[in-house]
Amino acid sequence: MNLNPFSSISKIQTDLKEGKYTATELVRFYLDLIRKIDPEIKAFITVTEKEALKTARKIDQKIKNGQKLGKLFGVTMAVKDIYLTKGIESTAGSQVLKGYIPQYSSTVYQHLIDQDAILIGKTNTDAFAFGGSTENSGFFTTKNPWDTSLVPGGSSGGSAAALSAGLCTFALGTDTGGSIRQPSSLCSVTGLKTTYGLNSRYGIAAMASSFDCPGAFAHTTEDLSLLTSIMAGRDSKDATSSHQKVPDYPNLLTNTDIKGLKIGLPQEYFTGSIDPEVKKKVQETATLFEKNGAELIEISLPNTNLGIAVYYILVPCEISSNMARYDGLRFGQSKKGQNDLFSYYLETRGKYMEPELKRRIIIGTYALSAGYYDAYYTKASRVRTLIKEEFQKAFEKIDFLLAPISPTPAWPIGEKANNPLQMYLADVYTVCTNVAGLPSLALPGNSPSREHLPIGFQLIGNYFNEAKLFSLGHQYQQLTDYHLKHPQL
Ligand code: GLN
Repeated sequence: MNLNPFSSISKIQTDLKEGKYTATELVRFYLDLIRKIDPEIKAFITVTEKEALKTARKIDQKIKNGQKLGKLFGVTMAVKDIYLTKGIESTAGSQVLKGYIPQYSSTVYQHLIDQDAILIGKTNTDAFAFGGSTENSGFFTTKNPWDTSLVPGGSSGGSAAALSAGLCTFALGTDTGGSIRQPSSLCSVTGLKTTYGLNSRYGIAAMASSFDCPGAFAHTTEDLSLLTSIMAGRDSKDATSSHQKVPDYPNLLTNTDIKGLKIGLPQEYFTGSIDPEVKKKVQETATLFEKNGAELIEISLPNTNLGIAVYYILVPCEISSNMARYDGLRFGQSKKGQNDLFSYYLETRGKYMEPELKRRIIIGTYALSAGYYDAYYTKASRVRTLIKEEFQKAFEKIDFLLAPISPTPAWPIGEKANNPLQMYLADVYTVCTNVAGLPSLALPGNSPSREHLPIGFQLIGNYFNEAKLFSLGHQYQQLTDYHLKHPQL
């Protein structure tokens, strides 16, 4: 069958309409690829073969009968296992939820299914999305398709790896502190962290509720713009979801002129432990925008250096509260045989919670305790406001920020696994956008090979500026072919 696994959404849909292959053949093609490639990459926790074939048959019927098709007909998607998918095991990457079959689906996932997208599988993640490499998964570590001795990034590493390896047409992740952008950068795919509240959080296991941003990975910005236009919007089941009208992003892709745009280069993102190759590539990207008419403006965001501290206080605080619901009674696994409730809680949580879960619950509970609340939680919340204000001041002078995502390319599996602090520090360039709730688009920024690992970069916009981010990203992808490079597998 003549199908390039990296085909874009529109290419697949044209082929299906022209009868080059059926949706069932397409699904079989991806399932075969998964069977061949995934035993090595380990992107998937569950492959939803039966459901995928069933949906494909429905789509084939619709095509045959000339019925109205959804905007994503025939498009395979891989979904981070932190999303609840009705009737399909949803583990959040943790032993805590092993065996948990939800009664309902996440809102954004449902929006995609309603448009005839095909769920092909649920992907690996650091347990409850706490991490940046998938090594904190309660099941196994996913490998980077560009070099299987390296991490794919995380926490949405399973989704990024699945897409990068050509095992689906798009994938879903969540970005609480960088978990869409960082694996995008490490695996060379395109991903968006939305403005906080653009996409509903309903039906996604909560990590840190005032930070969590569900979003997608795709092969191109164009695909991503379509997906976001379908996922986004007010949801009465998530009180923090935005009331803003969702623009028709795909129709606005050429609306923003690079010429005359003011692009800010925040100096704090180009110093410290940044790998020279990463710095060089991101600077080359800036030069490319300049050559196409943008004005580069060096700016300073001095509070950037406080981002890690603020994030790793506030996020564990919210985590410690959100994790309280996993008591062994209502969801997932529990340890039987205790005589009293307290031992039941202790043993269930003690046995099934992965080490990083316990670490964050302890940090968060400590920071929220009566004696330390003001010193940590209140103080960090104040600095959060300062970081937000600092970005707003910057946006008075510039239109977008251009910055690296990860200080280094992908690192060897195991290198940081036993050093949580090292792992946290790798988030230095991503967390501030989450602290502030701003949108940020991750784009492939080099032509990866065995010698040169993938290096992405991010464009950060002001609140609800996704349409312009897509437009910029799309034009960048017309000027470069990095997003068309794929690993040899
Ligand atoms: N690496 C960050 C953390 O461990 C980000 C995680 C995320 O965005 N889900 O908290």
